[in-house]
Amino acid sequence: MNPAGKDVRVFTKNQIVPVTIEDISDTGEGIGHVDGFTLFVSRAVPGDTVRARIIKAKKTYAIAKAEEILEPAPGRVTPECPVAGSCGGCQLSYLSYESQLVLKQKKVEDCIRRIGGFADVSVLPIIGMDEPRAYRNKGQFPVGPAQGAKTFSADAKKANASPKAGASIGFYAGHSHRIVPTASCGMLWPGHEEILAKVREYLAVSGATPYDEETGQGLVRHILMRKGFATGEIVVCLVVNGTKIPKPEFLWELLKTVPGVVGLCLNVNREKTNVILGDKLIPLFGKASVTDCIGDVRFEISPMSFYQVNPVQTKVLYDTALAYAGLTGNETVWDLYCGIGTISLFLAKAAKKVYGVEIVPEAIENAKENARANNIKNAEFYVGAAEDVFPRLVKENPAIGADVIVVDPPRKGCDEKLLSTMLAMAPERIVYVSCDPATLARDLKVLCAGGYRIDRVQPVDQFPGSVHVESVALLQKGSSTRKTTVTFGREI
Ligand code: SAH
Repeated sequence: MNPAGKDVRVFTKNQIVPVTIEDISDTGEGIGHVDGFTLFVSRAVPGDTVRARIIKAKKTYAIAKAEEILEPAPGRVTPECPVAGSCGGCQLSYLSYESQLVLKQKKVEDCIRRIGGFADVSVLPIIGMDEPRAYRNKGQFPVGPAQGAKTFSADAKKANASPKAGASIGFYAGHSHRIVPTASCGMLWPGHEEILAKVREYLAVSGATPYDEETGQGLVRHILMRKGFATGEIVVCLVVNGTKIPKPEFLWELLKTVPGVVGLCLNVNREKTNVILGDKLIPLFGKASVTDCIGDVRFEISPMSFYQVNPVQTKVLYDTALAYAGLTGNETVWDLYCGIGTISLFLAKAAKKVYGVEIVPEAIENAKENARANNIKNAEFYVGAAEDVFPRLVKENPAIGADVIVVDPPRKGCDEKLLSTMLAMAPERIVYVSCDPATLARDLKVLCAGGYRIDRVQPVDQFPGSVHVESVALLQKGSSTRKTTVTFGREI
């Protein structure tokens, strides 16, 4: 129904409408309203007035594309990237970096107020980067049949098409699995393009076929590469629909010539799924993990393990988490969703004991190795879902306690069961590291209803160019309402 109560569509496909963009969606589309209907407009940013072409008209909203900028947003710039607007990666490339930061700050504030309901919590100014380019330590490039040469489609098979019809390598377009061919990305370290070129050369001559998502056939699905910025080490991993690749030594010979490359491995993913990684890693040549350092802690990182992508801002993020944890050396700390133990080991030096919990077994193996390699003896790691492992461990060991709990969940936020265990453990402080302000605000609401108050919220820009923003929130035991009544002030 439209606002007038009539079951009609106000927009039709290809209709052109002028619209002013007021906000931005989580996936980077400009949001505007026309006659009470919401328009999601690609290639448009808040502050723009554009002529938008309707691509898909629904009953209460429409998807559109900016055809012409009638009035540019104050911070609008011409993107440097040749695939801006097609590639789904940098949704904010139309905005100056300063304007991107303003937008991210507003996003965190809006979530805290609207979703969390915290009207008087002021969010600290976002910490941005001095040089917001070439910051990423990880590239993840999908591989598919060259456009127009669907090598393994049923028709092509019938037509006996050559499996060497070529591969398309690049990034996915927004909201799609269409590959936008790219030879390099300005957000990745300079030099990564050489690796892409070598793998492309290998695919062209080896008979290793690109994977076709439609049919589930073909071999190479993704090219993954990760660099330890502190050490210069690079490991390349091909995600494959199989357990071996033809002529692997040829690929290794090519890659060995790229400065920094120390290893080549395969990740086996034979499922017809959108999930990039399968659960088996096969080392082929050299090292299977990259070594990197954050501050003075050294880490081994498997291609299967999560590792923050922006080393400069990761240090800022972890320093903030460490400061918020307020450790004196006597505390028992839990680091839930700990990955390879990065935050755990960062905190261990200042705490009595740290327990880390993480769902990916390879990450926990890395975490244990990393504790040993750094001679850190007061950190213990457990594999499993935090919402199962944490309640179980504290039930089995009632004396274990928790003075500080750090959580760093994926975008969907913390499980309810985990939040209630955290409240039952009643730590002095909770440090919530979040990559999604909406779920952060939702979870903060639960924790504050359970007796905590928000002390500080610090956004940190881990992902220049994209709509994503990381935040660290500090919660202190003791409800805000009680404190506010006593002090007649804001407890920020
Ligand atoms: N703190 C780490 C990792 C944060 S990313 C760092 O800064 O590097 C979130 C992590 O949560 C990932 O490693 C992911 O594998 C893990 N994870 C996802 N769901 C989980 C769950 N239910 N229980 C425990 N860990 C989970």
